[in-house]
Amino acid sequence: MLKGKKALVTGSTSGIGEGYARALAAEGCDVMINGFGDAGEIETLRQSIETDHGVACHYHGADMSKAEEIEDMVASASATMGGVDILMNNAGIQFVAPLAEYPVEKWDAIIAINLTSVFHTTRLCIPIMRERGWGRIVNTASAHAIVASPNKSAYVAAKHGVAGLTKAAALEVARDNITVNAICPGYVWTPLVEKQIPDTAKARGMTEEEVINDVMLSAAATKKFATIEQVAALAIFLCGDAGENITGSLQSIDGGWTAQ
Ligand code: NAD
Repeated sequence: MLKGKKALVTGSTSGIGEGYARALAAEGCDVMINGFGDAGEIETLRQSIETDHGVACHYHGADMSKAEEIEDMVASASATMGGVDILMNNAGIQFVAPLAEYPVEKWDAIIAINLTSVFHTTRLCIPIMRERGWGRIVNTASAHAIVASPNKSAYVAAKHGVAGLTKAAALEVARDNITVNAICPGYVWTPLVEKQIPDTAKARGMTEEEVINDVMLSAAATKKFATIEQVAALAIFLCGDAGENITGSLQSIDGGWTAQ
């Protein structure tokens, strides 16, 4: 049922977002990808999505901390693809430090990229989806949208904000055939997770091995990282027919972390 739909995925040059883009393309959606990285590698990714799945894949390099660039991206997605049916808000960054020493510029960047960008893309896509009479918005929140961990104040605040925004938006568009949901992964093995291991080790005075086993997987009852493909499969489910009456929800995929 997703064949021919037009999807915009923020933060999709890597990790979970790339997984979403590939999964949507596999369902027959045209996709606009977004994110940072080496220009040659992004072009290779764009072409591989097109050739692997026979869909159109476009790239927009908007910085998700800048409202005017987000406006340009949504306008370009709508003009280039002929609309936006599916919006996946996924761009995100992390910075780990104790609150009393937390760099102000890192706080501002995390709130802008992880939370405020979701407000901008959502406010811009709702009118497009309303006009098309159908829409799906999937936000990548986190287990940290439900519970907290030390040294991640900005991230936890932003992700709790995404949870609230998801619910508020869902209620506003509930009669427009548009659903809005958040996926709340525990730890998924991606570059974002790999990069925070040395900082967490430093902040907690641990070895990197201890950070993986005693911090990251300590709360997961399954003692497993989720895979990018599992997270993407949940997003595709929410976009499909079976997801029609699921809205305003937080979908945990965290190995039992937040059940405790
Ligand atoms: P990642 O670092 O692999 O990918 C992040 C993506 O966001 C990249 O494409 C990057 O270029 C893009 N990005 C970063 N800053 C940007 C900006 N200013 N403008 C545009 N794009 C920008 O990370 P990931 O692990 O795949 O994380 C994706 C999302 O999933 C994030 O929102 C993250 O908070 C969330 N998440 C991840 C995990 C995990 O364990 N990996 C767990 C829970 C939630």
